Amino acid sequence: MTSLEATIARWDGEAVVTRRDAEAQAWIFMALHDSTLGPAAGGTRMRAYPDAAAALEDAMRLAEGMTEKWAILGLPYGGGKTVIAPDRPLTGAAREAFLLRYGRLLETLHGGFQTGEDLGTTPADMGVVARASKYVHGIGADGATLDPGPFTARGVLRSIEAALEANGDGALRGRSVLVQGVGDVGAPLARLLAEAGARVLVCDLDEARGGALADEIGADRVPVDAALAAPCDVFAPCAIGAVLNRETIPRLACRAVCGSANNQLERPEDADLLHQRGILYAPDYIANSGGAIAFALMARKAPAEEIERRIEGIGAVLDQDFAEAAREGRSPLSIARRRVERMLGREEAA
Ligand code: NAD
Repeated sequence: MTSLEATIARWDGEAVVTRRDAEAQAWIFMALHDSTLGPAAGGTRMRAYPDAAAALEDAMRLAEGMTEKWAILGLPYGGGKTVIAPDRPLTGAAREAFLLRYGRLLETLHGGFQTGEDLGTTPADMGVVARASKYVHGIGADGATLDPGPFTARGVLRSIEAALEANGDGALRGRSVLVQGVGDVGAPLARLLAEAGARVLVCDLDEARGGALADEIGADRVPVDAALAAPCDVFAPCAIGAVLNRETIPRLACRAVCGSANNQLERPEDADLLHQRGILYAPDYIANSGGAIAFALMARKAPAEEIERRIEGIGAVLDQDFAEAAREGRSPLSIARRRVERMLGREEAA
């Protein structure tokens, strides 16, 4: 267990806006990591944590990831993330009242932090927050909330194509892709893959959800505990983080890992373990950026064609990353890191 003080003291980010909401008995941590390229932007996550320091640590880690994501995509935002840790689940009127209070807090930053939905929050939640703040991404011109999942799924699809291309052939037809978690991103991704002629394998903790999707698109089902070792061309983690670690990497039977889940690697060094095994890893913050790109551009009133072009561009970002990684015999993650450092005008990482 770590204390809040120690967690804050260790961090290299710019600031953390902290509030204990007494009424909802919830912690709010808005971690603002780096505003070199623009105002901080990132999702609002809500879930239970063992303690407040663990929630803060998660906010910080996720905000750092957002700095890298915006930088590598060349979008004018900085890294930020809110983590909300309620003592017990917030529902109904109490949730709505809390989200309005959160929106008012967000508004006090006057755009210094901009946000959207994330794990544990829904587009409807963001609609409530948007009643109190202008700085909510993912609200359509008509005021309706939008779902980022399909945009994210399109970016993951392009990323999978880039990974296949780097492994010799970008065509999806006949390739096997295992989608772990068929929720907001995994389901539309699985549909796109099936449409493109891939052989889709799906697994989901929610048996009914996995089964319904598999029936709909003619996918094969894989038991949850067999997913990591299932032979496939591409493993697409679209459920939870830290699925790639010292225990799981030796068991993988795929040629590439490319999915939407945030923080797929348990530790940064796990990228090297994948590299040593000859498994191409598409850095998660690039592969899963479609929704963030779409919403950030919408917030700037960009036309639909530009949004489309930028999501397609995720493939080009990865093409370059994979090519440099192959040339230098390094992991794609280390190449991406170096590029981020350059874009932020920092010393090149060793
Ligand atoms: P979701 O909650 O809609 O779907 C996740 C699915 O994974 C659920 O169906 C759940 O039952 C299943 N699941 C959970 N644990 C599992 C396990 N161990 N094995 C198999 N299935 C499991 O979430 P989502 O919005 O689709 O997001 C998925 C991941 O992608 C998350 O890590 C999220 O942070 C990340 N992400 C999402 C978006 C987006 O646009 N929604 C954008 C960027 C990153």
